[in-house]
Amino acid sequence: MAILTWLHTAYGDDLINGIRSSLPDETIYEWPGDVAHNEIDVAILFRMPPGFLKPFPNVKLISATGAGIDHYLLDPDFPRDVPLVRVVDHDFAARMADYVLCWTLFHHRDVPHFLKAQKERRWAYKIMRSASDVTVGVMGLGQMGRLTCERLAFLGYDVRAWSRSEHQIKGVRCYAGKDALPDFLRDTEILVNLLPLTAETRGILGKKTFDRMPHGGVLITAARGGHLIENDVLDALDSGRLSAATIDAFPVEPLPETHPFWTHPNVYVTPHCSSTASCATIVDTFAENVRRFRSGAPLLNEVDLAAGY
Ligand code: NDP
Repeated sequence: MAILTWLHTAYGDDLINGIRSSLPDETIYEWPGDVAHNEIDVAILFRMPPGFLKPFPNVKLISATGAGIDHYLLDPDFPRDVPLVRVVDHDFAARMADYVLCWTLFHHRDVPHFLKAQKERRWAYKIMRSASDVTVGVMGLGQMGRLTCERLAFLGYDVRAWSRSEHQIKGVRCYAGKDALPDFLRDTEILVNLLPLTAETRGILGKKTFDRMPHGGVLITAARGGHLIENDVLDALDSGRLSAATIDAFPVEPLPETHPFWTHPNVYVTPHCSSTASCATIVDTFAENVRRFRSGAPLLNEVDLAAGY
């Protein structure tokens, strides 16, 4: 019995040190390094390459270090019979809500207009719309989407949400299922994407979706790059169908230096940082799941492998 770790370097040594001190009785290996492959029965992994787990035949629990797990399921060699757990946490979701609120206000209050005017020393008065007159549509009502909707509604926005199954949230008009997508999009001026990347949602941010929104809408996407059809985003921006886009996740990351998003006047690029779980959250969630696994108790935050999220 031993744990294999491959961790996000952004946390420095804090993650591995936290895991070691929370699980003092466990044998813990760090990848890359000298690892007794057959001993490994638990793995916590960040974006490992395809086939990485093949030489570890005894793995019985896999933990992600964040919320999204699409990367794991895209690996044809990923063991489909082994439970996969992820991070679900209020503070993690609150950081995402902050991101969406920040950019929703940025677009609604037309910050670019004032930045440009100041540069040109122009007193460019403009009447601002009330939040209640602005319709924000959130795709995905999981840990990130739900809290984001609640906080947008608290600010007074006219909030709509779209998910796979029915939900009820105070102050939010909820739509469910594929057939409801056109109705959800019809009035959505600011479209926020917080969907998981699955076979059903890949490429959802494309012409078909943008054409269903009111002309001049805004896109804020903080989920996965695979949701984007990049040329459709650029075409929609150039035709005015979309007036602006804030994009945090891209099909290729880091975004290549020559990518047109970098220099497009109406695209706002952030480097996949809309939300990050705290080190303590990742350590506590993982340690709790290891303890549960060792004692045969039900796991926390288990992914539905059939649904793909
Ligand atoms: P969850 O798994 O908690 O929630 C997913 C939501 O999407 C659910 O409401 C689900 O519906 C809905 N959904 C799934 N498939 C469909 C579909 N085909 N049609 C309509 N709705 C669908 O996800 P999280 O909230 O944890 O994460 C959301 C996204 O944010 C993920 O892509 C994740 O990778 C990304 N993320 C990005 C970060 C970043 O820094 N950029 C940080 C953290 C997360 P239902 O409720 O009916 O099941």
